[in-house]
Amino acid sequence: MLKLLIKYEQKLVEHGLCASGTPLVGGVNDVVIWNREDPLSEELEKIIAGLNINSLIFARPVEPFFSILNYLARHSDTEFVPEDTETRTFLHSIPVARSLTATEIIPLLQKRKGCVVAGHGIISFGTVSPEQAFVVFSSIIFSAFVKFFVDHAYAQQVGAPDPEAKKMLPEVLAAYDQFLPGHAEAELVTGDFSNPGDIVRAMIQAGQATVNARMVDSFFGNISYFANDTVYISQTGSSMDELESCIDACPLDDSACTGITASSELLAHRDIYLGGSNRAILHGHPKFSVIMSMLCFEKDCKNRGKCHIKCDKPRFVDDIPVIPGEVGSGPRGLSNTLPPAVQGRRGAIVYGHGVFTVGQKDFRDAYASLAEIEALCRNFYLKIISASN
Ligand SMILES: [Zn+2]
Ligand SMILES: [Zn+2]
Repeated sequence: MLKLLIKYEQKLVEHGLCASGTPLVGGVNDVVIWNREDPLSEELEKIIAGLNINSLIFARPVEPFFSILNYLARHSDTEFVPEDTETRTFLHSIPVARSLTATEIIPLLQKRKGCVVAGHGIISFGTVSPEQAFVVFSSIIFSAFVKFFVDHAYAQQVGAPDPEAKKMLPEVLAAYDQFLPGHAEAELVTGDFSNPGDIVRAMIQAGQATVNARMVDSFFGNISYFANDTVYISQTGSSMDELESCIDACPLDDSACTGITASSELLAHRDIYLGGSNRAILHGHPKFSVIMSMLCFEKDCKNRGKCHIKCDKPRFVDDIPVIPGEVGSGPRGLSNTLPPAVQGRRGAIVYGHGVFTVGQKDFRDAYASLAEIEALCRNFYLKIISASN
């Protein structure tokens, strides 16, 4: 158990979410075990005792995330509700506790998977493993970050930016630059590949590079390669930085492969390959791409209030289309929207969700496009903010 707790403490630090030595990770094993000693563990054990859970993370995230969480906590009553897909499908809302006390926090965690403790950080839990607590912790940071920037852009647009958010912005952006790795260029192997061993190696390398560049939280995103009439694809819920045994080979003529472990997005990937000459697909959640996908500046858009899900008029960020990509096989389902959108293009952004990019022979162009699209979105965002000043 202790080894597992330390693994997640290290993951929080390696992913740049927490400073070294700060996270508290507890697990239930007859008694509660902690990754390190801390006076707070007594109160946290009361929380564990009040819930039927297996593990708990309490930590203060690094900047700019800590300031953003505190800002959102100050501007909300009992909870805040980001509108990105991760929140809509997974977190639902993010409750806010005003004190680090079991009496206040237990009722919040009976309804949600994690909460913000104003001025302290985030508490999240797992019912079977600390992995769940880690995923929730990271999702709260992602969703809060996206919400801060989306709200600010809309407030700017109507000429009523919150002075506090406006004042925070330069520091938040500077701290976010610190969070991003210095250079996101990766030396990826050149294709094309036909040997399954080479394919898996190239996928592992590209997945790791995408996580390292902080363009996806490792447990989301997916990746695939097409060769030998087979789609090699990461399994649903596999960590992009631990892909070794998590790649499925799905032959085109074997429908048995779909829906077992292969990514739920297999059909979308397959139809991209069948509809063009691409061989590689990379999917990540770079933050400014998600932010831009949720912003609509069409005057009097008929869909106002829903522009993070769909707009009537097709939207683009430069040459990149912003498309719906819902779960399931409906007309707005990813398997119907994505393949035509990337036809003849380098990629597409899915509303509130993330970016899909394609590669011709290997992952070099798909990876470069992911980084370029994110840079493009960030530049567009900053332009929007300064233009409406
Ligand atoms: Zn995704
Ligand atoms: Zn709209």
